[in-house]
Amino acid sequence: MADDYYQILGVSRTASTDEIKKAFRKLARKYHPDVNPGDKAAEEKFKQLNAAFEVLSDERKRKLYDEFGDEAAQFGFDEKKATQYRAYKAAQASGGGMPFGGGGGGVDFDLGDILGDIFNRSGGAGGVDFGEMFGRAGGGRAAGPTAGEDITATLSLSFNEALTGVERGISLQRPGRCQRCQGAGQVGTPSTCSTCGGTGRVRRGGVLGMNTSGTCPTCRGSGRAAPPCPSCQGSGVLDETARLTVKIPAGVHTGSKIRLSGQGAAGSRGGPPGDLYIETIVAEHPLVRREGDDLYMDLPVTVSEAMLGAEVRVPTFQGEVTVKVPEGSQSGRRMRLRGRGAPSLKGGPAGDLYLTLQVKVPEHPSTEARKAAEALARAYQGDVRGSLQL
Ligand SMILES: [Zn+2]
Ligand SMILES: [Zn+2]
Repeated sequence: MADDYYQILGVSRTASTDEIKKAFRKLARKYHPDVNPGDKAAEEKFKQLNAAFEVLSDERKRKLYDEFGDEAAQFGFDEKKATQYRAYKAAQASGGGMPFGGGGGGVDFDLGDILGDIFNRSGGAGGVDFGEMFGRAGGGRAAGPTAGEDITATLSLSFNEALTGVERGISLQRPGRCQRCQGAGQVGTPSTCSTCGGTGRVRRGGVLGMNTSGTCPTCRGSGRAAPPCPSCQGSGVLDETARLTVKIPAGVHTGSKIRLSGQGAAGSRGGPPGDLYIETIVAEHPLVRREGDDLYMDLPVTVSEAMLGAEVRVPTFQGEVTVKVPEGSQSGRRMRLRGRGAPSLKGGPAGDLYLTLQVKVPEHPSTEARKAAEALARAYQGDVRGSLQL
């Protein structure tokens, strides 16, 4: 089981969203892969941080996580499924009857149909094969068509790439469709199915103390099946290295997810494939800080530019602009360049670029500069620290 998300971020269970954000930012900076190149432990820690932050920063996910723990993640934060699963576990622990569907003891019903809905698509995590949980039917190969799992892969981007968007070739290992049987799990001439003896149904004797039956997984109810594919042993799935081109839209953050439909793990025995999620990790910029879509940068100016006002050239990610520094600007003055921040992923207006003026004095003043500074000192009206009353 994964560690507790609150522990990973080092916050209390009652921490506010702000506290969670702060804790995440601090730790993410410390364990970022760009800061710890080649350090596997840091990389693992960074992944955990992102996973914990993704859940705890989302009000709905956090609520479900508080209630269901790791099971919430396993069920893709689908409250209904997590509740069903919990009911099922409770029933199993108490040795009671089935929590779902109608029917008392001894009634035949299709367990596979009910559980299939819960277990076949579990939002990427876990992947429970109910054939394994409930025992194999009649000694044959259990489990019918099963949807492939969702896969999440991470992709590191530079700060600039995240702002402009980028196309990247990636390769990943995933369970792919067996080429030999085209995913069917069977090759050759069909004959009477040996699993069900041609009836198309199998009994799952003794499951939860009840007699249940279901569609034969080998022949999927047809009563006839070909021999299992020797390449994939009948699963229809073989590991493959997939090479894909991923288009990363402009404006992604660390933790943004791009969904590539149907590019996850192949389904077994003819089940549909899962989806692939590309989770982006964006590197920090040495000069620019990003908060949401807004960017923050220091703007150094000379003493005379700050005092007398000036028009200065400032680089932005959309090209150089001229910025008017007002006369009498103090160090720390903040100026906003509207729309010069990061583009909005959701298609809204772009963020803003905030400049913080930083007055620079000459580092090695000449005699002439010293004299000028002394003359300046006489220009202050009153004590500059006069308002410092603690
Ligand atoms: Zn095969
Ligand atoms: Zn059969």
